[in-house]
Amino acid sequence: MEHPENADLYKGLKVNKGVADAPTVNPYLKKRIQRTEYTPSEFVEGILRGNITILSQAVTLVESAKMEHQQIAQEIIEKCLPFAGRSVRIGITGVPGAGKSTSIDAFGMHLLEQGRKLAVLAIDPSSERSKGSILGDKTRMEELSREKNAFIRPSPSAGSLGGVARKTRETIVLCEAAGFDTVFVETVGVGQSETAVHSMVDFFLLIQLAGTGDELQGIKRGIMEMADGIIINKADGDNIEKARLAASQFRNALHLFPMPDSGWTPKVLTYSGYYKLGIKEIWDMVNEYIAFTKKNGYFHLKRNEQAKYWMYESVNDTLRDTFYHNPVVESLLKETEQKVLNNEVSSFIAAKQMIDLFLQDLSRK
Ligand code: GDP
Repeated sequence: MEHPENADLYKGLKVNKGVADAPTVNPYLKKRIQRTEYTPSEFVEGILRGNITILSQAVTLVESAKMEHQQIAQEIIEKCLPFAGRSVRIGITGVPGAGKSTSIDAFGMHLLEQGRKLAVLAIDPSSERSKGSILGDKTRMEELSREKNAFIRPSPSAGSLGGVARKTRETIVLCEAAGFDTVFVETVGVGQSETAVHSMVDFFLLIQLAGTGDELQGIKRGIMEMADGIIINKADGDNIEKARLAASQFRNALHLFPMPDSGWTPKVLTYSGYYKLGIKEIWDMVNEYIAFTKKNGYFHLKRNEQAKYWMYESVNDTLRDTFYHNPVVESLLKETEQKVLNNEVSSFIAAKQMIDLFLQDLSRK
């Protein structure tokens, strides 16, 4: 329709025909609606085709606390399982500042150059508190995040370490089904999370720094014992000699540990993630380990042990959840806790009483 402003009255003024209004639908909302529209089989089909958007959406379902999402997620995982297991899974740990993100960027680019497809996942149980994981964040891995053959996913945030770890383990299955042949699971080297990562990877890499001369004191013995390779980062510039010295100290320390079940003597290497020096040697070591443990049978033995471990973990999780979400238990919990604090009843008796009432309640159902 002609604009009234174009009438003779307003000579010299010309109002053009307008453009159509922009669509008001928020594209993000549209995506969310689409997600729930996929059936589990459609998810699986998309994942097997290597569709990253569908993979991401499936991972979101795995991470969701909602019951209906969990049901779909479990169905997807089950259908993906026959296509999983074909990657090399590598755990990477190191204290904040050790250079994990810089190194993962460098390792990842090296692997992509060899035609591999890499998924970078993370376990960071502290992420619940800080509302957002510091690990696995795309912005930390500048080069990798631009690559289509790299899939980077921050740590799921959930209450317990067990919960976070289970989700990451399930995400590995989906990534493998989507064709990723290498999976990194990153964690901060400060707590229990190493054990969780160790229980889902084939090779465990510990990033260390040379420095103050008391390097070995800062590391928990348990973490060093888990490592299949210790790599000393920042071996560049003035730091090269210090890094070499640290490496020989680590080698000496490792001699004091018993021979690992794998039969593999952990190696200690120096490198620079920033300047990309010594990266190839690290992957030669990983490949050597994989070949060695495949030959002596340990690779499959460990994977079987891990599968068993996760079955029991899952049983424990489910039992714990069922117990704490039981209405009888929920109604008694605070009161019983107070009785224990008042010394009216011992911790063990209190626990037994609640479990008895829980079992009674179950048997009535
Ligand atoms: P993260 O906290 O373990 O992920 O550590 P970052 O990768 O963020 O690295 C911490 C700091 O160390 C950054 O300032 C990096 O630039 C630096 N850095 C990492 N790798 C190297 C390296 O190989 N050489 C040197 N000189 N600095 C490095």
